[in-house]
Amino acid sequence: MTHSPETVTVLRNVRPWGGDAADLHVADGRVTAVTPHDPAVPAPAADGVVDGRGLLALPGLVNAHAHVDKSWWGKPWVSYGGEATTQGRIEHERAHRDELGIPGADVTLAVLRELLRHGTTAIRTHVDVDLGLGLRGIEVVREALEAVGGAVHAEIVAFPQDGVLRRPGVLDLLDEAAAAGAEHIGGLDPASIDRDPVGQLDGLFAIAERRGVGIDVHLHDGGALGAFQIELMIERTLRAGLQGKVNVAHGFAVGELPASRQADLVAAMGEAGITMTTVAPIGAAPLPVHALREAGVAVGLGTDGIRDLWSPYGTGDLLALTTQLARLSRFRHDDELVAAARIASSDAARFVGRDVHDLVVGAPADVVLVDAENVPDAVVRAPGRALVVAAGRVVARDGDVLV
Ligand SMILES: [Zn+2]
Repeated sequence: MTHSPETVTVLRNVRPWGGDAADLHVADGRVTAVTPHDPAVPAPAADGVVDGRGLLALPGLVNAHAHVDKSWWGKPWVSYGGEATTQGRIEHERAHRDELGIPGADVTLAVLRELLRHGTTAIRTHVDVDLGLGLRGIEVVREALEAVGGAVHAEIVAFPQDGVLRRPGVLDLLDEAAAAGAEHIGGLDPASIDRDPVGQLDGLFAIAERRGVGIDVHLHDGGALGAFQIELMIERTLRAGLQGKVNVAHGFAVGELPASRQADLVAAMGEAGITMTTVAPIGAAPLPVHALREAGVAVGLGTDGIRDLWSPYGTGDLLALTTQLARLSRFRHDDELVAAARIASSDAARFVGRDVHDLVVGAPADVVLVDAENVPDAVVRAPGRALVVAAGRVVARDGDVLV
C-alpha cells in the first residue's frame, strides 16, 4: 500500500450521468445527499472535500464476469500455448499454472489494482475450484481483496473449471465452498464437458437449494445444444424457486438461434428470472441485448479472464469493453449508449449482491469521473479515469492506484 487513501466527505462539482453539476455528500462509505452545486459557494477548507472539476460522474463500474485468480498480470510475457478449444485451454492451464504462481495473492492483487485503475469497484469473480487446488484459490482471492482494504466489493463464484461430474469430488468441493461463504457456485458446459447436462445441473441445483447460493454457469455450447441446456436451467429454476439467482455466462446459443426460437427462449428466461453475463466477444453472434432486457433478463458485462493461460488479451478496462459491447450490438442512438453504460454500472447491482449501485442517496459511494461531454461520449470514447472513489475513498487518480 503506497499510502492511506483519502476519505471523501464531499465530492464537489461533478455531473452525475451528465446532468447538472452536483455535490455528492458521503459518510461511512455511502452517498448521504446529492445537492445542486453552487459555484458561488467556495469549497470549505476541510479534509475530505474533493474537487470534481465539473467532470462527468458515473457509478463505479461493475465487472460481472471476472477471473481474478488466474491472470499473469504484472509478470513477464507468457506466450500463448494452448489448443484453441475449451478442453485444450483447460489442459494447458492445468499444466502451467503452478510455474506462474497461479493462483497467488500477488497476481490477484495486481489484477484488482488494474481493475480499480480503470474504475471498476465491484466484481463478480469466478474462482477455480478443482481437485488439485481444493478451495485454495478462494482463500487467495479473499487475501488479495483484504489487501486493497475493501476498495473492490466482490462476490465469489466457486467455479469448477475442470468439470463437475467427470471429476468425482468436485460437487463436494462446491458444496463446501458454498457452506464457507461463496455467494454462487459455477458450472461449465454441462453437455460438452461433463457429457451429462441433466446430471451436472441437478447436482448444482441441489447445492443451491440446500445452501441458498446462486448458480452461474459458463455455457459455451452453441445452437440447439446450448439452448437445450438453458431450457433445463429454466425448468430447474422454476421448480426450485430460484428465480433471480441463476445466471448464464456467455450463452452464445442465445445469439445463434433463429429469430422465433430465440424470442421464445428469451421470454422463458425472463419468466424464470434468469440473467445473463456477456464478455462482448468478437467473433460470436451478439446477444440480443435489447430483447433480453425487455423480457426481464438482466444482462451484465464482464472482462472474463485478462492476460491468462486462456488468452493474452484483456486489459481490465470495463469502459473500453462497454464501447465494444455497444459496437457489437450496433448501438448508435444516445439512449442505447446510455443503456450500455447502465449495463456496465447501475443495472449490474444485482450481479454483485447490491440493491442499489448508482449516484443516489443510500448507494455505496463508488464513483468514476471522466472528462466527457455526456454519457454517450464517454461510452464511445472510454476516456481515462480521472478519479475513482470506492466505498467513499479516493482509490485511483489520473491512472495512479492509491491502494
Ligand atoms: Zn469466464
